[in-house]
Amino acid sequence: MYVADGAGRLVMTNPAFDALLAARSQGDESGAADVAPAALRKIFARLANGDEAVECDETFGTNGTRRRYRSSHYRVVEPDGAIAFAGQYFELSADADGPETVQRHAAVDHHAAAAARNAFFGKMSHEMRTPLNAIIGFAEMSESQPFGPLDSRYVAYLRNIGDAARHLSNMVGDLLELARLSVETKTENEGASIAGTLAAARTAVAELAARRGVDLRGVETPDTRRVIADRERFQRICVNLLDNAVKYTEAGGRVGVEIARAEPAGMIDMVFWDTGIGIARNRHERIFESFHHVDPHTLLCPTESAGLGLAVSRHLARLMDGDITVDSAPGEGARFTLRLPAAPG
Ligand code: ADP
Repeated sequence: MYVADGAGRLVMTNPAFDALLAARSQGDESGAADVAPAALRKIFARLANGDEAVECDETFGTNGTRRRYRSSHYRVVEPDGAIAFAGQYFELSADADGPETVQRHAAVDHHAAAAARNAFFGKMSHEMRTPLNAIIGFAEMSESQPFGPLDSRYVAYLRNIGDAARHLSNMVGDLLELARLSVETKTENEGASIAGTLAAARTAVAELAARRGVDLRGVETPDTRRVIADRERFQRICVNLLDNAVKYTEAGGRVGVEIARAEPAGMIDMVFWDTGIGIARNRHERIFESFHHVDPHTLLCPTESAGLGLAVSRHLARLMDGDITVDSAPGEGARFTLRLPAAPG
């Protein structure tokens, strides 16, 4: 997210935008950090000349990590009548393919129904996530109080707004994934590094863990083995399991992952363990059902719970010829085992 003033100076950005700008500005000579790059200035010119909003699709990044982004830019009229600009970028994942791409695929492989379905989910995801990303971004930026100090109650409210919108955004993602999975029968599997995927998943939950005072050091692994998996979905499962482990562990607790060769030859077990509140035996299967509701007295963070993450994760693991199981008792932490086929070598 960014906000720029009428002269095209960036006056407010969130950390994700700063990182993006660094990747994007390679080769851009505009220099000063507070001046928007040339491409953005062109967009501002269009907005200043009457366009209400501008949408762009771009690919940028360094060699090897080039990514596709969709961005939306708006003209904003400040309370004093001055014109300003605001915008947001988000990364397009494979499932957010635009209808055009999907239609091209359809022409080639004649899977028109699948293409139409994917187009629908891609569009829905975009339509729902774009406003949510705006809410998250503006809340984050305002929380950093760039225009002067705010009463601490407002800062707390802004954090609540951001948390609730992030929750909603995750839920939208899970719901769409669940809907898609109900008709999907296979995933795109290839070799995926366990250590690399865990490191990325750990980064995704690091902020939440720091905020909740949960130690994530046990997640690091020197293991060099690989599994056969759909990389994006493998990472999604890892984020989900780590996120749960952090959410259901009190301050001072620990979360980690153990990796072992599984009983059936050719499989690898990744055990996501935590020292948290644990799960009663009679709920071990029910927590994998969609929208499984928890006992209110065991719920640590009501606003963060939708009851979809494990249903999606197990479904994904099974599509990849693996599974997820749980071992836990109240007060004794939890151990979720993700089993996936080992990559040869
Ligand atoms: P959500 O966490 O959004 O409710 P999930 O499907 O990820 O949805 O989890 C379903 C339920 O399983 C949770 O509400 C929680 O009660 C329980 N659960 C999941 N992971 C853990 C964990 N590591 N420790 C304790 N309870 C857990």
